[in-house]
Amino acid sequence: MISVAEAIQIVKQQTRPLATERVKLEHALNRVLAEDIVADSDLPPFDRAQMDGYAVRAEDTAGAPVRLRIAGESAAGRGWHHELKSGEAVRIMTGAPVPAGADSVQQVELTHELKDHTVVELLESVEAGRSIVKRGAEIQSGETVLQSGTPINGAMMAVLAAFGYAEVAVGQRPRVGVLATGTELVSVTEKPGQDQIRDSNNYSIGAYAQITGATIERLPLARDETSILKKQIAGAAERCDVIVTSGGVSMGVYDVTKSALEELKAEIFFERIALRPGKPTVFARLPNGTLLFGLPGNPVSVAVTFNLFARTALLAMQGATEPALKYETALLARSVKGTVERESYLPAQLTTNDDGELIAFPLKWGGSSDFVAFALTTALVSVPAGTRSLEANALVRVLRLP
Ligand code: AMP
Ligand code: MG
Repeated sequence: MISVAEAIQIVKQQTRPLATERVKLEHALNRVLAEDIVADSDLPPFDRAQMDGYAVRAEDTAGAPVRLRIAGESAAGRGWHHELKSGEAVRIMTGAPVPAGADSVQQVELTHELKDHTVVELLESVEAGRSIVKRGAEIQSGETVLQSGTPINGAMMAVLAAFGYAEVAVGQRPRVGVLATGTELVSVTEKPGQDQIRDSNNYSIGAYAQITGATIERLPLARDETSILKKQIAGAAERCDVIVTSGGVSMGVYDVTKSALEELKAEIFFERIALRPGKPTVFARLPNGTLLFGLPGNPVSVAVTFNLFARTALLAMQGATEPALKYETALLARSVKGTVERESYLPAQLTTNDDGELIAFPLKWGGSSDFVAFALTTALVSVPAGTRSLEANALVRVLRLP
């Protein structure tokens, strides 16, 4: 058995980035950047007023209250492009360019205009530089503002737009074939008959894969027969970069996923991980290069193993610099039990306490088939192998689930 960390390492090593493509900015959300994003202009592009008020020369205000002649008005999008002279003020709005000659903005609350609006009285003096963001103070033209390999979030969409990236280079979406195995399975549209259950794994796997940016193909449910499964995998491999199966990887007579892979001459990178739940997880490559994750059938094992391993591969294929989920540290809210030989990943909810500390509340659940309880999970608590139990207030490593 290999450790979880070793398995993640193997996934990273065996995964190659797909080609890149250019997409319109409106289609870039959640895609992984395949180019550095470089500022094509200073930010702000001009000395910008931070307040509504009056642009002035600070030295003119030293003996406040003072009266200054209003020489003009600078609004956002409609600046006043003359030189401000001593004894003058320019009425200015937030976001508007500060005229040449002015070195400060006095906020409107500390002023009042006299009756005919040609003169303003400043009630207090203002020091040079006040309420002005100098050109280039935030970003300078030519600076790299986002790095290649970063997944694009909503705030980054604004950055891309601000610097004129109407199109942006991103990693291609992996095509993922989702294949549930199990003679007991019927589809969501059917009422299960005797000894049958509805397939739910294809929906969690499909959803988790889509969250990473992959596109999915739902393959027909596969019976526990090597020859049929083999055909389905081989057919799907022609169209997919990755196949994610569930079920059929344990030691039972009808656990046929591995025999199908052997007959297909797949290269198996691992098939047993010191992990609970999820020990029999398989990672392999088919002769044509398609990667295959053979996840166990239990819905909770699926959620854990997909997010540890398959998710990492799908993000690495899109060129993500940090494809694996990141561990954080939290305080355990109540004691939990570990497993002798395996690292456990226990479902939990994350909150913070009044001291601002991250708290992991392990959920009560009925084991790896209890996917209803698992639906409330927001994080997994890692309990190291060989740890009998962890007490309340222990520091634990946690992974936030997507
Ligand atoms: P297996 O790994 O094939 O032995 O399956 C373990 C358990 O997970 C069994 O109780 C299966 O019925 C259940 N299971 C397998 N595949 C699915 C699926 N696609 N949806 C829901 N449950 C499943
Ligand atoms: Mg099965």
